[in-house]
Amino acid sequence: MRFECKTAHSIVEVDVARLYDEGKRYLILDIDNTVTPWRSMELEGEVLLWAQNAVETGFGLFILSNNHNKDRSRAMAQRLGAKWCDTGHKKPSKKAFLAAVEHMGGTVEQTVMIGDQLFSDVKGAKKAGIDGILLDPIAKKEAPITKLLRLAERIYGRKVIFSKNK
Ligand SMILES: [Mg+2]
Repeated sequence: MRFECKTAHSIVEVDVARLYDEGKRYLILDIDNTVTPWRSMELEGEVLLWAQNAVETGFGLFILSNNHNKDRSRAMAQRLGAKWCDTGHKKPSKKAFLAAVEHMGGTVEQTVMIGDQLFSDVKGAKKAGIDGILLDPIAKKEAPITKLLRLAERIYGRKVIFSKNK
């Protein structure tokens, strides 16, 4: 199956009705710099409305974060109407993505990963056979390791993702 990666400026620009028409039914959401700034607990009203609209459209949502704070992930999921569980795996391991899909009761073909990081979010999803939507990060503030990965993103560019055979 052909892997597809779209891009969007922010999560609220992701057109869930269109994804639904394309046969998608499940969305895996990253937390940091995708739904909220790094380490923040704030959720903007428009993000909450976007998530509510996604659920009402018929999507199952799942929160998948490498952040160590599990209480935060659980609380974020609850507020967004999303599922969450400790998958026991870290992105970009494909096991993390496959566990999320299984927890939602869906299939990889029906699922889209939405996140701001090329390597952990989109490339990990690709390994699992899941389409991706790469967002611009909400804020510049992020973990030191992420800053290193941003450098790698700039060096290797999006060809990592868009090349057919990787
Ligand atoms: Mg992120």
